[in-house]
Amino acid sequence: MTINETATAPAEATASRPIARNITDLIGNTPLLDLDAFAQRRGAKASLIAKIEFFNPLSSVKDRIAWAIIREAEESGELRTGQRIVDITSGNTGVALAAIATSRGYPVKFYLGDNTSPDKRKLLETLGAELVTVPNSIFIDPEGLTKLVEQIEREHPEAYFTNQLGNPSNPTEHYRTTGPEIWRDTEGAVDVFVAGVGTGGTVSGAGRYLREQKPDVRIVVAEPGDASLPTEEQPYPAEIDGVHKVAELEDDQLPPNYDREIADEIISIEAEAAYAVARDVLRETGLFVGASAGATIGVALQLSQRDEFAGKTIVAIVPDSGERYLSAGVFG
Ligand code: PMP
Repeated sequence: MTINETATAPAEATASRPIARNITDLIGNTPLLDLDAFAQRRGAKASLIAKIEFFNPLSSVKDRIAWAIIREAEESGELRTGQRIVDITSGNTGVALAAIATSRGYPVKFYLGDNTSPDKRKLLETLGAELVTVPNSIFIDPEGLTKLVEQIEREHPEAYFTNQLGNPSNPTEHYRTTGPEIWRDTEGAVDVFVAGVGTGGTVSGAGRYLREQKPDVRIVVAEPGDASLPTEEQPYPAEIDGVHKVAELEDDQLPPNYDREIADEIISIEAEAAYAVARDVLRETGLFVGASAGATIGVALQLSQRDEFAGKTIVAIVPDSGERYLSAGVFG
């Protein structure tokens, strides 16, 4: 391990920050962290930067879209006082929705994949959400998903279905906030952007913004490797929580919020390799990232070793914290 010699003391309390009036005022403007020393020890020729989404108030990238969906549905009048909110979620969207919705007086009910980490489950229960478990394979099974959506609408005709997989407020919010933040904070230096696909909102929205600023920016999707494919013996294998396969899927198996045209490249990484990266990042830098960030940083590391990216700047999204995976076998 090396000590970062450029480390500085915290800034003195000179730059003032307004007192937030609502928790939602604290969403976004998450920090970037330079992981160059970590990457260089692994032969990187490019600069590697992490965008740390666990600085959001409910500690994940999903705060952005949960608030955007609720805000826009309230503004349009689709979501009314006291109405129940329902959605299908792998955890983080549920956590953000539950906290924001409950504090605004909406009860919440979520349909959760059966590979969701026990920590996220506990958290959702603590936040007052009602939970229904569904097979995780439903996320790549168009028929199963359609049936589930129909079931939800049948059982809860009165509810507001936030529909993170298809709600346009999701990619639009990443286009409005995540992409511009990366562009602003790297001062336009970003050459490569790496994200995983759950709903596809992050990569499609932020990716579209970055491509508009710099047409030759490379957008790369990190997807789970083949060990994450369901088999007969293991119908619901350990997957990289929150992130699904995309490359071999048909259009109707992909979430509507994933823009199939956005990725220049899709690179797979096995769950175990992603977990190892998350453990290394923690040990060597002190940054405690979650499972899907192990995948994005792992893929960013591979890219950073390529000659074509020598001297370039790679930004990897860190969707959530390792604290959401303490009982999930990621950190032992
Ligand atoms: N990582 C984690 C931990 C997530 O919860 C999600 C969302 N399910 C993602 C990555 C993927 O983000 P998106 O839905 O924007 O594609």
